[in-house]
Amino acid sequence: MTRRLRRVLLPAPRSFCAGVERAIEIVERLLEDHGPPVYVRNQIVHNAHVVADLESRGAVFVGELDEVPDDALVVFSAHGVAPAVEREAAARGLDAVDATCPLVSKVHAEAKRAADNGDTVILIGHEGHEEVVGTIGVAPERTLLVESADAVATLRVPDPAKLTYLSQTTLAVAEVETIAEALKQRFPAIKGQGADDICYATSNRQAAVAAVVEEADLVLVLGSANSSNSNRLVELARTAGVEAHLIEDARAIDPRWLEEASTVAVTAGASAPPRLVDEVVRSLAELGPIEIVERVHTRETQEFLLPRRLRPAAPNRGG
Ligand code: SF4
Repeated sequence: MTRRLRRVLLPAPRSFCAGVERAIEIVERLLEDHGPPVYVRNQIVHNAHVVADLESRGAVFVGELDEVPDDALVVFSAHGVAPAVEREAAARGLDAVDATCPLVSKVHAEAKRAADNGDTVILIGHEGHEEVVGTIGVAPERTLLVESADAVATLRVPDPAKLTYLSQTTLAVAEVETIAEALKQRFPAIKGQGADDICYATSNRQAAVAAVVEEADLVLVLGSANSSNSNRLVELARTAGVEAHLIEDARAIDPRWLEEASTVAVTAGASAPPRLVDEVVRSLAELGPIEIVERVHTRETQEFLLPRRLRPAAPNRGG
């Protein structure tokens, strides 16, 4: 019996974004320059493979600064930290290196500016997510969290004329637009920029999946369970009526998913290494002949500079 040809769609962009690459490179450079241990507060990015790889090279992941010995080197993860954490590190004399994604730092700056202007900040985000915890920490007494459009109806604000909304960077574009619209309906004077706080990497990966989802019988998204942007890709496919699964790696594929799937889209959240996609494609190839179709929605060119102390020294042009 000949096995039928299966199409494998690879929407692009997928996998690592510039903020994740920068955060991983910060830990790698510190491991090279200082040697282990390099402490990292929280997972540097939300991916189990990345964390395990860095752990094997001497990174030590901790939940809180009190697990870091005095005078040690500690990295703040890509999701950012509340200013109180930075102050605690400084007070302890820890050598702290900030791997916060610059696009998260931008949201922190917006929150600070709004709070300094006397506004209440309405943060659209998911309770408990590390990025949300950090952003609320910028102005904790002036920030309210909203998780859904329904929650807008019961929101109590001190002054409806003094409001600014912001969002977590890794949410679904459509969901944030819906919540922002509900906020504008209820508080016409509210300031905010629609879904503009959602980062380029999140919106590009969503648009790339949206562009292929109608052709797919099955969507496989590589990413860890705590990766917000990866979960949003699964939701997007399911909302379009297509079976979709979040998988840590190729070993998590259930062969039953593939029985009726002649076109499979494979993508990865911004924190999942590209090699995991290659491994899934190899696994699919082992099950029968495949045709690989790359579908480029957007080419990303974004890069972020490393913190100054980790940039290569400029050549000495003296003399
Ligand atoms: S997903 Fe977006 S906010 Fe998060 S690290 Fe990547 S670019 Fe930065």
